[in-house]
Amino acid sequence: MTDARRPKGVSALRALISLDDWPLAQIRRVLRRAAAWKAAFKRARGESEFGRMAEDKGTTGAFSKWDEMRFERTVGRRTVALAFFEPSTRTRLSFELAAKRLGADVVDLDVGRSSVQKGEDIAETLATLEAMGAEAIVVRTTIDDLRPYGEALQRAALVSAGAGMAEHPTQALLDVLTMLEAFGSLEGKTVAVIGDVRHSRVAASHLRLLPRLGARLVLAGPPALLEREDGRSATAIRAPSVDEAIEAADAVIVLRLQKERLTAVDRAMLGGDVDRFLARYLERYGLSAPRAARLKPSGLILHPGPVWPDVEIARAVFDDPRARIRVQVENGVFVRMAVLAEALAISSPEEEAGSAVPAACSETGDGRAPVGVERAPHYT
Ligand code: ASP
Repeated sequence: MTDARRPKGVSALRALISLDDWPLAQIRRVLRRAAAWKAAFKRARGESEFGRMAEDKGTTGAFSKWDEMRFERTVGRRTVALAFFEPSTRTRLSFELAAKRLGADVVDLDVGRSSVQKGEDIAETLATLEAMGAEAIVVRTTIDDLRPYGEALQRAALVSAGAGMAEHPTQALLDVLTMLEAFGSLEGKTVAVIGDVRHSRVAASHLRLLPRLGARLVLAGPPALLEREDGRSATAIRAPSVDEAIEAADAVIVLRLQKERLTAVDRAMLGGDVDRFLARYLERYGLSAPRAARLKPSGLILHPGPVWPDVEIARAVFDDPRARIRVQVENGVFVRMAVLAEALAISSPEEEAGSAVPAACSETGDGRAPVGVERAPHYT
């Protein structure tokens, strides 16, 4: 097919490769939708702290909203494909659940039993999924740059589920939703990102997103693991120590140590003996119980998972009332629903009627909800 006859690729705004590509208004819409869908979902399950009984269904504004959504009718039989070339539990399952809750058909490529084992490359695999009708393809790779793959697709939107050490946009969005539930706004809040900033794509996405939402980002951890090769660490404040970062923080995001990504140079910088370095990690840089005691009572503890217990975070701290690790997982499903709604170009009834979606979860201002929409509730 000549270039002139080629269908135009999908809109860059349907894809999510880098949060830098999305205007703030789109980021806000995704957070608002995720918060609203979470509230609706919990009410529908009778889990709402607003105490609605199941029998109330249809009699309140909130429930009729839920009915209005009727995901399966809105979305029809849309198709979402998952293509994870790197292992995952939370991200893969939550994308799958998200797509199903939107009423889409989902295919999950089992890389180990796919033609990738015969040498088929990523681009060809994605083109195959697109040819089967996938309109959104959720991709995780060890490769940092997903852009060429996204641009090669003609109809499907590529949604990053984590790219090498470069970005993990949906993790940053769900972390932000989790913080917004507690704070209403991130304006002026201090977020400490602790640990292996160098290899973490989660840290990379936070370095992009948090400053745009008005938060102050503070990095702390082993000096050899703070400098990123993309130079982005330089855009954040470097705390003199983990203790000081925690004392200053409204929220602490503890990162997983990316042992699998350590190069020979990294290992040498950590003193050569990585096991020895890890044995002392909790005491030197991790969120031990004494260090957690330095965090303010209203502070939050987050970790993208999987957590390495008693290395990055002491087991005892898992039960700390400030810990939001399970809430992050819960929020991941709703954030990914909202991201897939962008990828599938699904608009809400309000948008179709031409009115703006009301802000349920404002990241600027005082966090109060506008009339008609509850503020994103606190779930502990
Ligand atoms: N699950 C997150 C990721 O895939 C965090 C991590 O594994 O460190 O990046």
